[in-house]
Amino acid sequence: MNAKSLYQEVILDHNRKPRNYGSLNNANHHAIGHNPLCGDRLDVSLSLEDGHIDNIAFQGESCAICKASASMMTAAVKGKSRGDAEILIHEFRDMATGKLDLDNPHHLGRLTVFSGIQELPTRVKCAILPWHTLHAALNSVTSASTEAESDPIHLSAGNG
Ligand code: ZN
Repeated sequence: MNAKSLYQEVILDHNRKPRNYGSLNNANHHAIGHNPLCGDRLDVSLSLEDGHIDNIAFQGESCAICKASASMMTAAVKGKSRGDAEILIHEFRDMATGKLDLDNPHHLGRLTVFSGIQELPTRVKCAILPWHTLHAALNSVTSASTEAESDPIHLSAGNG
């Protein structure tokens, strides 16, 4: 299977069966993300216990790319430490914007299906929004926007 059809298959699969979709009763961190360019709106809630993401869920109205990215993100960071989640956030963001050399060691695993997104500039923000929102939730910023003046990912580099 080539990279493009694998990408399409993954997007379809996660839209048909989004992982961790819904809200959490015992969430202690929460953020809402908004991508005005596409109209994506995401609500990410998680329970952070002893520095680990014990549980995480998302819901909202978004395009297929954003939804698939959110679904894969929740599966990828569930059970991880906050520090490991922050590493994934940075790596995913760098991959989506074409700044990550995938030949070097990284932790993205199957998330590399999104590596082709860098060739679709209008969709990059759709793919990144869930990760922006996760970052905001981890740092208890209540809302994130891909259009924010101050990028929350830059604001709190070094956290965790
Ligand atoms: Zn979108």
